[in-house]
Amino acid sequence: MQQKNITEYDKEYEIKDHPSVKGVKIIEGQNNFPISWLNQQGYCEYQLYLENMKGIETQPTPAMTQGSKIHHELEEIFKQDSTPSKFEDAVEASKTEASMSREVTVIAPNYGIRGDIDEIWMKPDEIVIIDDKPGRTPYQSTMNQVRAYCLAYKDMTGEERKIKGALRERGTENLFWIEIFTPEVEKQIKFTIDRIQGLIDGTRPFVPTKNPKKCRSCRFKNNCEHAK
Ligand code: SF4
Repeated sequence: MQQKNITEYDKEYEIKDHPSVKGVKIIEGQNNFPISWLNQQGYCEYQLYLENMKGIETQPTPAMTQGSKIHHELEEIFKQDSTPSKFEDAVEASKTEASMSREVTVIAPNYGIRGDIDEIWMKPDEIVIIDDKPGRTPYQSTMNQVRAYCLAYKDMTGEERKIKGALRERGTENLFWIEIFTPEVEKQIKFTIDRIQGLIDGTRPFVPTKNPKKCRSCRFKNNCEHAK
């Protein structure tokens, strides 16, 4: 498969910082949050509150530091072996010849989401959107993160090919979860995104987890009044 480094996009957006919520931007007049929030929301919504509304800062966990290191190394290797391309050109060319890209930024102002996809395989008959994770367990939170990438990609491109979301064990070739992005999956992820938009605009409360195991390994536990 050809390797294409996406360096340019046709579309440019008007982007501003949100006045009070860290991490949220206002893009095309709408609140827009990082897709990685879906992973955090699935773990515990209250983490989002502490980090982004209260501004609590914590040290990254060893797993986060190690994950960033591997990610960076893979990215550097990819850049050396790839050719630069505009996003829209890569999508179009892949209708006849398969290619793969890493660190592809997607922005969907209509849904208020944005993020960077770890890897995309664009093939003439399907698109595979891959997120690298530690371990081999597909959690609801990590599956939702990939589903949101699929939604953003589809919204940006109007893609008519089959789209699949996948989770891969970091640093390996092992795709341990893969799912077709069906209309039903799309409906479900839109519902979850809508919930997060409600957290941001204050129409829904941030619900803390009831699972003490999550609190025990939470990096916010020393600053959280709901820690169990
Ligand atoms: S300590 Fe528990 S309730 Fe508080 S943010 Fe962490 S996981 Fe959520």
